[in-house]
Amino acid sequence: MSSTVVSKSGNLARYLSLPTNGKIIAEYVWIDGANGLRSKARTLDAKVTDVSELPEWNFDGSSTEQAPGHDSDVYLRPAAFFPDPFRRGDHIIVMCETWNSDGTPNKRNHRFAANKLFEAHADAEIWFGIEQEYTLFDEFGNVYGWPKGGFPGPQGPYYCGVGTGKVYARDVIEAHYFACLYAGINISGINAEVMPSQWEFQVGPSLGISMGDQLWMARFFLERIAEDFGIKVSFHPKPLQGDWNGAGCHTNVSTAEMREPGGMKAIEAAIEKLSTRHAEHIALYGEDNDMRLTGKHETASIAKFSYGVANRGCSVRIPRSVAAAGYGYFEDRRPASNIDPYLVTGIMVETVCGKIEGVDMYAEGHRE
Ligand code: ADP
Ligand code: MN
Ligand code: MN
Ligand code: MN
Repeated sequence: MSSTVVSKSGNLARYLSLPTNGKIIAEYVWIDGANGLRSKARTLDAKVTDVSELPEWNFDGSSTEQAPGHDSDVYLRPAAFFPDPFRRGDHIIVMCETWNSDGTPNKRNHRFAANKLFEAHADAEIWFGIEQEYTLFDEFGNVYGWPKGGFPGPQGPYYCGVGTGKVYARDVIEAHYFACLYAGINISGINAEVMPSQWEFQVGPSLGISMGDQLWMARFFLERIAEDFGIKVSFHPKPLQGDWNGAGCHTNVSTAEMREPGGMKAIEAAIEKLSTRHAEHIALYGEDNDMRLTGKHETASIAKFSYGVANRGCSVRIPRSVAAAGYGYFEDRRPASNIDPYLVTGIMVETVCGKIEGVDMYAEGHRE
């Protein structure tokens, strides 16, 4: 299948290798009003070595559900940049924060608040590893590779599967893996999921705010690569009703204390704190997550907090190897595939390490 937009993408290679007269291209990426991604490119005069060299920019927020038409400018402030795996050379892709014209963070800019928490709790050295699950669809809206008007055989052979009929769109996934590595994304692995055409990649362990920067950029790469293949990416937590697994963003967490021998005490203390804020966390753990957290398909019920060693039917799991060693990390299995990782990592550091003056992550998640 060829892309709906670039019908002969092979031709592009001839032009991508043209020298650019010393200019570089910076693709500015931001989160739009619907928790999706947008981007636009600009030319810069020289190679960039530090994020502070990147100019602020702006866009029309009335076209992205981020500002009213009468006051439509939203500002882009570069937060992190990565080598561009599509244009290569010195070209870069930039993750940006969005700011309103009155100097307040845009309603979808949750990075600013989360970063304040990470700065205040820098000595905790909090690490995250997020397991991003997602589902592929063809351009007509059918699950990619499924028989037209029908279903593949029941779940079983697909998880980490190999061989025709058991694995779908490996080319997209493989391309994405290499693109992430090229760009310096801290991608730690990939695997095929339980439902056919559902996949997972993991990013981490990543320190503090960089988790959100890297996960959003990895999502951007995935959408962009799938474009070349004419495939759509869905981050919906329950893309199909029935006996098919949902899609999550399991969030693995550790502080420096938890990673030291005897760290189990700190892990248990964190889980205790999480149990007192279940509803507030759930509120930031993705839209339509109630369709996924049913208590079936390796999930716990959305209504009640639970935890256990090696139990994939709990809200929070302590991996068997961590329990055996007595230190390490824990896994919050509640977040959905469509989370904003800035909100999820933000409320996690707030709950585990403590609130700070002027930041309230629950309220942050409900800001207009
Ligand atoms: P699962 O067994 O739940 O499928 P995965 O192997 O898919 O787990 O993902 C585990 C994630 O946890 C990886 O992204 C890994 O980098 C991350 N991780 C490992 N150690 C830590 C740690 N100490 N703190 C935070 N995250 C960690
Ligand atoms: Mn996993
Ligand atoms: Mn998984
Ligand atoms: Mn997991």
